[in-house]
Amino acid sequence: MAFEGLGERLQATMDRIKSKGKVSETDIKVMMREVRLALLEADVNFKVVKQFINQVKERALGSDVMQSLTPGQQVIKIVKEELTELMGGDNQKINLSQKPPTVIMMVGLQGAGKTTTAGKLALHLRKNFNKKPMLVAGDIYRPAAIDQLETVGKQIDVPVFALGDQVKPQQIVTEAMAHAKAEHLDTVIIDTAGRLHIDEALMDELKDIKEIASPDEIMLVVDSMTGQDAVNVAESFNDLLDITGVTLTKLDGDTRGGAALSIRSVTEKPIKFAGMSEKMDGLETFHPDRMAQRILG
Ligand code: GDP
Repeated sequence: MAFEGLGERLQATMDRIKSKGKVSETDIKVMMREVRLALLEADVNFKVVKQFINQVKERALGSDVMQSLTPGQQVIKIVKEELTELMGGDNQKINLSQKPPTVIMMVGLQGAGKTTTAGKLALHLRKNFNKKPMLVAGDIYRPAAIDQLETVGKQIDVPVFALGDQVKPQQIVTEAMAHAKAEHLDTVIIDTAGRLHIDEALMDELKDIKEIASPDEIMLVVDSMTGQDAVNVAESFNDLLDITGVTLTKLDGDTRGGAALSIRSVTEKPIKFAGMSEKMDGLETFHPDRMAQRILG
């Protein structure tokens, strides 16, 4: 279960302070030291941790908290509010265009969950927004990628636009856009190639596709299990492509949660969805407040 270690540590710390009728400055400092360690252990980016701790400390040491009747609970409330804020505050919705088709470009490293998430998103948009999506097979390098997308399409009964692996992705996307318009499909979800690492050729290709398709949403898919690496990946993709949203996958696994807590503040781009299983219905809207609640128990 995600956040297990972090959750347990924070809960223990919170329990200690919760019932205190009087909280001293030393209590707060001790508590914040434990929170800091718990966050670092959960692989949260150290700059993010520092900023977070300072923010909480500043508020917690304010006289209105220290002199209130339930200072322990006030401090816990502050930690929760700041955790929520750290993850982006309110949920940010997926960008849908007023002028169809809405174009969503999926990007991310190989294995992050792009193809799976493309299918999940198609299902989500059809179910909840009554959209008519089409999936585009833009990854011509990984031999099984096109087949995988076609399997996903069949599973959820969504058409897949594919031209095989001998046509350049730029051309596939150009033709896919024309096809969607001709068929009155109002949502185009483009699966793109991923590599094991970020490389220039891939980024050039992704920039071309961005130019051709003018996506309303550039959705970066990152694997929450990769911790600090996920944050570095997000930073690089954001620098090069100016992403508009993030989907964090594999939050059903035993990730320590550092990525979820760092990505927003490092990239300033919202986490919009969380992947909670391998299945097509395993996509959840990401709510920072619910996530904070889950971490704090
Ligand atoms: P891609 O290379 O980025 O297209 O990644 P895939 O979509 O092929 O996903 C890689 C693996 O991760 C597959 O085995 C997926 O079933 C799995 N996967 C993707 N998202 C999730 C998720 O949210 N939870 C779990 N448990 N597995 C996932």
